[in-house]
Amino acid sequence: MTANTRDGAPVVRCGRCGRRLKNPVYIEAGFGRTCAAKLGIVIPQKRKTAPADPAAPDGEGR
Ligand SMILES: [Zn+2]
Repeated sequence: MTANTRDGAPVVRCGRCGRRLKNPVYIEAGFGRTCAAKLGIVIPQKRKTAPADPAAPDGEGR
């Protein structure tokens, strides 16, 4: 039996401390941020900076 939250998303708990995970990034990892860090698990974070924007070179030489 699977417990679901009100919006229908499945409840995922941290594999170490049992805290409920809301961030899909940590849900995918199976651990919360703190526990992942303590376990040495690297969580890939999405950053706002685009890796390669053709309209904006390195910012130098203009
Ligand atoms: Zn935890």
